[in-house]
Amino acid sequence: MQIILVSRHLKVARTITIMPRHLVIASFAFLSLIMFTATLTSWLTSHVSHAGSEDVALSQQQETHKAQQFVNNNLQLMATRLGELQAQVLHLDTLGERLAGLAGIKREAPPVSAPLPGQGGAFVPAPLGADELQREIDRLSRDVDVRTDELALLESRFLEKRVKERLMPTTLPVKEAFLGSPFGHRSDPILGQRAMHEGIDFNAETGTPVVAAADGVVLSAAYQSDFGNMVDVDHGDGLTTRYAHLSRINVKAGSMIKRGELIGAVGSTGRSTGSHLHFEVRMLGVAQNPAHFLKQGEEFALVKRR
Ligand SMILES: [Zn+2]
Repeated sequence: MQIILVSRHLKVARTITIMPRHLVIASFAFLSLIMFTATLTSWLTSHVSHAGSEDVALSQQQETHKAQQFVNNNLQLMATRLGELQAQVLHLDTLGERLAGLAGIKREAPPVSAPLPGQGGAFVPAPLGADELQREIDRLSRDVDVRTDELALLESRFLEKRVKERLMPTTLPVKEAFLGSPFGHRSDPILGQRAMHEGIDFNAETGTPVVAAADGVVLSAAYQSDFGNMVDVDHGDGLTTRYAHLSRINVKAGSMIKRGELIGAVGSTGRSTGSHLHFEVRMLGVAQNPAHFLKQGEEFALVKRR
């Protein structure tokens, strides 16, 4: 085959003879080019798409990592909360013991819910699952509630006890005195008949200070024909004390007084045969043996007996 090439500018013609081997070479070169192009395209395609899927995988991995981190953070928070709760329970237990000791109350061991199997004691940050952690937190929260209730009860009993102690007439109303007539039946010192002595007598010199046996409010402070100058003190809960035959009254009705506060002086006013303090304790108006109350104080044992 002959191809004639004509150059327009040079006005010359050139003849190229194409032999079959030239065609073979050309075909081979052409095929090679196609194959090369195809391979290149395929490689590029696969490489680029692979890179794309890698991108997707990478972002997925990051998402998973973030989620894992979030879960880990939450677990960490839960574990921290668990540790705090355990510390709280221990603290409340110690507080309960101390408060019960102070109040002189026998403390019943608070019910403790069962911990997770194999758990207990100090918190070991073992890799607990979220469910286990939540269960443990719930359990300890209940324990904290139980202990809080128990402490509130202890506190109220403690306060009650303290208030009662403060209002109990246990302080000796007159210090420098001899024990006179006791509480109970005796022959009346004036009429000589058998009569009920509703208090106890303290024999002391006129003018010896008389003090309140407990905190209270003065009910009355006035002269009365039988008891002479008399002071009645209300200690609450139906409990009252009476101080009779006083030579002097130092308080007024309605005033609040403290245990040991001066309310008057020993005398012999009213139906009395000599200088003494007649002291009564009444519960809802009914005379009680004052010795039962005074014995709870320390001073009564030291009172001189004749
Ligand atoms: Zn008396």
